Amino acid sequence: MTRVPSRWLAPVLLAAWTGSASAYKCTEVPAGGWTLWWAPREVTVLQHVRCSSDLADRAACHAAITRSMASWTDVACTDFTFIDGGDTEDERAGYDWRHPEANRNTIVFREGDPADPWDTWPHQAGALAITTVTFNSRSGRILDADIEVNAVPRTGGRRYTWAICPDDGSGCGGANDVENTITHELGHVLGLDHPAVPDATMYASAQPGETKKRTLDTDDENGVCAIYPPGQAATPCVPATGGGVTPHIRALRSCDDTSQSPCEQRTLFGVRMGCAASGGGLPWAAALALLLLRWARRGR
Ligand SMILES: [Zn+2]
Repeated sequence: MTRVPSRWLAPVLLAAWTGSASAYKCTEVPAGGWTLWWAPREVTVLQHVRCSSDLADRAACHAAITRSMASWTDVACTDFTFIDGGDTEDERAGYDWRHPEANRNTIVFREGDPADPWDTWPHQAGALAITTVTFNSRSGRILDADIEVNAVPRTGGRRYTWAICPDDGSGCGGANDVENTITHELGHVLGLDHPAVPDATMYASAQPGETKKRTLDTDDENGVCAIYPPGQAATPCVPATGGGVTPHIRALRSCDDTSQSPCEQRTLFGVRMGCAASGGGLPWAAALALLLLRWARRGR
């Protein structure tokens, strides 16, 4: 597969939907107001073959991630299903809009291998993990989602470390639990945002050694079941109204860290689908192409 630059551009603050009807939050399309959803009820997620180098037992690392997928799939009041797509060598995150059929939903630990131009952390240094969701901004329909986990050395040689902690979190030192974090990030993949419910898996912050997010809270289950009722079409928390939001493909990053306040969330400008038929589209497209070129150069 050709490596194509697909990590984008120009950050804008993400405004989270603050619906009052329920505690769980659905992720809002910025400048739209409607929320994200998948059309297929089965979403395949692949794991990068390396998993985390902190874990000598790679199979155990992969198994922890598989359990995270199962936590969402096993919810009784929805038929939303994460399909474990197995291992992949593809470590890209973001969306290749020129080859949409080539996109995969992936989970990758970034470790800062200087020989690997993709193995970097171009996000906030303190972010523990980032999920980038790409979607059609007119409908909120999700096209692709990728999870990046931060294990890149930071200032002073510190970095986040990863482990499979004992169930009670004891004896895990300063490491972060793989299953705890990935279960949370998978909630972003399916379209959930951070609620103000401290016991929820989707709560914004996590501490080293924390394991409680492995198990979904009722609030998390209510969220996934509201969007994906069994046997029925997806029901976004806020359905799209057909507004003319452009560009048509956008992406946003949900950012998590270990502090009590979540790190900054960002949206990324994407690309206009199809040909621009009216004035204004082409200059925009040209500007985008230039920015993509700069991004590509910066990333290599
Ligand atoms: Zn989060």
